[in-house]
Amino acid sequence: MNIQLKTQDGSVTKPLAGRVSLVTGSTSGIGLGIARALAAAGSAVVLNGLGIAAEIARTRDQISADCGVKVGYSAADMTRPEAIAEMIAATIGEHGRLDVLVNNAGIQYVAPLDQFPIEKWDAILSINLSSAFHTMRLALPAMRQNKFGRIINIASAHGLVASPFKAAYVAAKHGIVGLTKVAALETAEEGITCNAICPGYVYTPLVEAQIDGQARAHGISREKVIRDVLLAQQPNKRFATVEELGALTVFLASEAAASITGIALPVDGGWTAH
Ligand code: NAD
Repeated sequence: MNIQLKTQDGSVTKPLAGRVSLVTGSTSGIGLGIARALAAAGSAVVLNGLGIAAEIARTRDQISADCGVKVGYSAADMTRPEAIAEMIAATIGEHGRLDVLVNNAGIQYVAPLDQFPIEKWDAILSINLSSAFHTMRLALPAMRQNKFGRIINIASAHGLVASPFKAAYVAAKHGIVGLTKVAALETAEEGITCNAICPGYVYTPLVEAQIDGQARAHGISREKVIRDVLLAQQPNKRFATVEELGALTVFLASEAAASITGIALPVDGGWTAH
């Protein structure tokens, strides 16, 4: 994807040229897709997340070469507020600004509520919710100074509706939708917007791994797993793609979305229309 705009004099510019974006949890899946899309739209990007150092270095080089933008990386653990503070300070220190903050890092664990391991509850709340509180509280002063900011929180359809056995995930995702609305209200007159994207099932390597695993476990075809198990709740019976989420993030980060703030936008093929 290479996004360009033609100006009135015919010259070509990218919608996020000169911007600096930080995407938490961007070493794989949705976060990586969003980081690629922001870079293709002209923004410098700081990646974050867990992974193998050599692979992360290759990803940085590749995005930078493809898009002609600076690509940095922070290994900050989203469970550690002091590491998050270092990441934000380093981003602003190196680039002089932080325009687009995408809170995407997230994990999942599935168990009945009365058997939910306490350490899993704590980890999900801290990675999927509290990390966004920390990045936002630390990024806002720099955004306020520039009178420009775009905060995009990757929530979930589970930020709007519940499913059984996902107590921590559903609580954290509902929480981040609430946090999004508070930030939108507090920044509404300052050129800053804060929105949540609420995907249903998105096609990522983790989902691909689940398809074969479930097919083997239930002795059914891949097609049946996709339609009747994974996408049981998703009326359009197709996965959203990381490219679709990347394009939406670029739009929300652009000038064109200046009046959109405080929303929780489902990208779920009709799931939450039920
Ligand atoms: P993923 O596992 O591919 O990516 C998660 C990212 O978070 C990785 O980069 C990982 O390294 C990072 N991460 C995990 N723990 C971390 C920690 N302690 N510190 C820093 N980084 C950490 O998952 P994904 O499917 O791409 O999910 C990304 C986000 O999208 C999550 O918030 C998830 O809840 C949300 N989401 C995913 C789907 C889906 O179908 N895949 C649907 C709705 C919402």
